[in-house]
Amino acid sequence: MKQSTERKRIEKKNAAKYKILDFMLNQGSTTKADLAKQLNLSMPTILSNISELTEKGLVIGAGEMESTGGRKARQIALNEDYYYAIGVDITAHHIGMVLVNFGGKIVHQQRVRFDFQSDIAYCRQLAAQIQAFYKDVAAEEKILGIGISLPGIINEKEHMLVKSHALQLENYSLKMIEQLLSFPVYFENDANAAMLAENPRQVGNVVYLSLNNTLGGAVCIDGNLFPGQNRKAGEFGHMLLVPGGKQCYCGKYGCADAYCAASVLTGNGKCTLDTLMQSLGKDADADQLWEEYLEYLAMLISNVRMIFDTEIILGGDVGGYLDRHMMELAEKVMKYNRFDRDISYLKNCSYQKEASAVGVAKHFFQLYVEQI
Ligand SMILES: [Zn+2]
Repeated sequence: MKQSTERKRIEKKNAAKYKILDFMLNQGSTTKADLAKQLNLSMPTILSNISELTEKGLVIGAGEMESTGGRKARQIALNEDYYYAIGVDITAHHIGMVLVNFGGKIVHQQRVRFDFQSDIAYCRQLAAQIQAFYKDVAAEEKILGIGISLPGIINEKEHMLVKSHALQLENYSLKMIEQLLSFPVYFENDANAAMLAENPRQVGNVVYLSLNNTLGGAVCIDGNLFPGQNRKAGEFGHMLLVPGGKQCYCGKYGCADAYCAASVLTGNGKCTLDTLMQSLGKDADADQLWEEYLEYLAMLISNVRMIFDTEIILGGDVGGYLDRHMMELAEKVMKYNRFDRDISYLKNCSYQKEASAVGVAKHFFQLYVEQI
């Protein structure tokens, strides 16, 4: 009897600790009073947990918050240096690597040209590249794991890349890569990974539009990724946008990918996205290309908004530039949408570069908090 009461007390305490850490991981710095209010926990519960977490070094003071009167509230936050995680984004011709701290900040990053091959030599070289990346910048015991994002459909349970157009693969086992790395490894589809970078638990219901060289997306419901029946939810690139239009890499005509992928703007890699964006306002051809791109993007956005009625995060390579063009985009979106009065549901992505790598790295922080 006594034992079961004690167990219940510990379970209750751990549940409170999880709530506190989960909140701080997803919302950033806060105050003890705000924690009590937001999490519906008593002040003594907050105080005892925060003091325990502070003693452990997991939570630290983070200055004072401006107040409208009375005493200034002390801010607390997670200790960013307590843990790290590595994220790797694999594409057909590159790998992007990031080291992310417990506060979600990129502390080290590198992008290298590295052509994908489906053989063991590639896996070995990949593992060597990753080891060289973290060797001098983080103590191994502080690294929780390595997340790897890939352009394709992933069966996380079987550690299998089910299908990837970009890498031209089907049913490719990821176990070899995993065995070569001396950390826990997590694999995720690149668009889902980019969604994870946005703290989905904080936003709840949201759609992520990944405007990369291939167009993808992710759907998040109640803070969790929605996979769909065959892990294909959010494949916005193959929604029909222009009947009988341009041919898509999937073989169909008129897919959104043929109009809204980043490759449309770069002429399939003939120029970089940076070059194109810098020539806007100086080069009439570039201006026209951009104008047309935004027009089709506006159509796609309106369609997605009609289906989900949630916020839409504009991400991927093009998403990283869109914050400077929201007025132009708004004008076009409003033309296609008679139901919303403004475009406040459109959000710019939090990480302009390497969002997928950041997302798979952050997965380990969420996992750590859930297992506490
Ligand atoms: Zn298609």
